[in-house]
Amino acid sequence: MTSPPRAPVDALTGLSAARLAVYVHFPYCLSKCPYCDFASTAARQVPEARYTKAVLRELEQRRGEVAGREVQAVFIGGGTPSLWSPDHVREVLDALGALLPLSAGCEVSLEANPGAADEARFAGYRAAGVNRLSIGVQSFEPATLTKLGRGHDGEAARRAVRAARAAGFTNVSMDFIYGVQGQTLEQVRRDAEAAVSLGTEHLSAYALTLDAESLAEEVPLARQLARGEVQLPADELVVEMQRAVRDVYRGAGLERYEVSNYAKPGFHSRHNSTYWTGGDWLALGVGATGSLGARRYSNQRSAERYLVDVEAGRLPESSGEALTALERFEERVAMGLRLTSGLELERVCEEYGQPYAPRRPLVERLVVEGLATVTSGRLALTDAGLDVHSAISARLM
Ligand code: SF4
Repeated sequence: MTSPPRAPVDALTGLSAARLAVYVHFPYCLSKCPYCDFASTAARQVPEARYTKAVLRELEQRRGEVAGREVQAVFIGGGTPSLWSPDHVREVLDALGALLPLSAGCEVSLEANPGAADEARFAGYRAAGVNRLSIGVQSFEPATLTKLGRGHDGEAARRAVRAARAAGFTNVSMDFIYGVQGQTLEQVRRDAEAAVSLGTEHLSAYALTLDAESLAEEVPLARQLARGEVQLPADELVVEMQRAVRDVYRGAGLERYEVSNYAKPGFHSRHNSTYWTGGDWLALGVGATGSLGARRYSNQRSAERYLVDVEAGRLPESSGEALTALERFEERVAMGLRLTSGLELERVCEEYGQPYAPRRPLVERLVVEGLATVTSGRLALTDAGLDVHSAISARLM
């Protein structure tokens, strides 16, 4: 049997044009954080074996959709996947590797919660094939952690990073949140300084956003916001926080490569880059959302419904649709402009059958106003442009 020709690799992202990523969701947590709108559920007893079996079965159900495609990155997210035993994680990764070819150097990430992290467990993940840990620190500040309802302190986060290193991980990321109710600029700056002092290869920092209306039913903090019981910092202060984080991270040698993501050279998240560069991803597990060509699907957000569907031999989808070329174009532009390397807008217009000419004057204006640059045909937003990323993307659509 001859192997299929290798797809060309994008020089900027290092990703193959026919790239496929795989996302596996683990929905169980120790407790439910009041700001969380992920598909997650607090469970005293995690039905690990049953859940693992269901994910393997879903993989079987979906194998025809991705047959023969090379996997560039796997991300096990949640929820709290560091509650999943290394043996079960190994089962999932082995099954994946048996069904689909994994690329050389395939990035395999697992999200860990500082409240469920220790060296032996991390060593088990590494032996199972995980080569990158993403630790959900959110903050080191006691006041911020309390507001977020996190069940761990800053010291647990530091211990988790040390445990990752002791277990042999050389690619570690940490996630942070800013723009929390009552949080000050000084606290955000201290968090950023504490983060870089740990020397991890990758850092993400996201502003807390809560759509009070759409989330009020599910998310306690959104409900409080809707009732006026809490207030988030003003938009101008949130922008200042984002700039403070950016300056501290940059000062420590981490390059901003996406609106909210920073990395040492060579440590961009390959998995997330698949989303930002228009690649496909297979999604498995509760509440997971996948994108294969024009097809988008979302799995059941209720763990019980997901399990029942899969066990009955049904695809556990709550929705599925084919996006139009225009919808895909809009998404491609919005996602691509999140990257500081930008996107080849003219080529993307051509790819999705959209005219470039009416967009050219706006591109030229963005450059004159210092909001964007165009280099070798790539349109990229500057720091000032990234501050208003959503507005610029909307105008280019
Ligand atoms: S640990 Fe993460 S997924 Fe679980 S409830 Fe908290 S924010 Fe949500």
